[in-house]
Amino acid sequence: MERREFLYEGKAKKIYRTDDPALYLVEFKDDATAFDGVKKDRLADKGILNNRLSALFFSLLEKKGVATHFVRTTGEREMLVRALQIIPVEVIVRNIAAGSLSQRLGIPEGTLLSRTVLEFSYKDDALHDPMVNHYHIYAMELATAEEMAALEAAALRVNEVLQPFLAERGITLVDFKLEFGRHAGGILLGDEISPDTCRFWDSSSGEKLDKDRFRRDMGGVVEAYREVLRRVEGA
Ligand code: UDP
Repeated sequence: MERREFLYEGKAKKIYRTDDPALYLVEFKDDATAFDGVKKDRLADKGILNNRLSALFFSLLEKKGVATHFVRTTGEREMLVRALQIIPVEVIVRNIAAGSLSQRLGIPEGTLLSRTVLEFSYKDDALHDPMVNHYHIYAMELATAEEMAALEAAALRVNEVLQPFLAERGITLVDFKLEFGRHAGGILLGDEISPDTCRFWDSSSGEKLDKDRFRRDMGGVVEAYREVLRRVEGA
């Protein structure tokens, strides 16, 4: 697979075209950002760890019937993916209260939610990804009702697969963010699944093993990501 022109640079990834118009290459960078890009740093090897973790989670999900954009890993910080027309709706899945949910609703961080909560935000940096509901999504024509049904079912399925898989490895899946896109008439899970986009807590100590270590200046960010990889690879 030949790498062609650079297409797009996000906060943590770069996307390139390939010689096949239906396939892109994703390069995971070491850059870390938080609070809308206000806080920035470079964390050596983060891109390598997130590439491996995302590849592992996407492969697991494919085996369990979730269609993803992942094709194969092509380098230590690079994967081949199906080209998506991104649906500009971020889907947040929550099992335990944390972060913005705790702040907004006054539910203390760590409270087990009595059922899984789905939230949606409009993917727009200039507007700071505001939370939206189905009425906004349909009025703005971000996605159709049929697409939203598919995307919600897939998001809940991802949770059903990842929660027990991680629990067996001593990791509590607190919450995570997913992005989806259109490809060849269907909807595929895209973006990444990594400690940058999920909250992972050590099941016994409650220790944070995710990007909150960076957001909250706790240190040991890459070490925590490495520990997640070690546990999920079963090494
Ligand atoms: N998340 C993300 N990208 C975003 C917003 C949230 O990956 O732009 C993830 C975040 O890492 C967490 C979950 O989605 O696992 C819920 O995040 P929350 O809404 O609590 O926002 P935060 O507290 O991170 O601002």
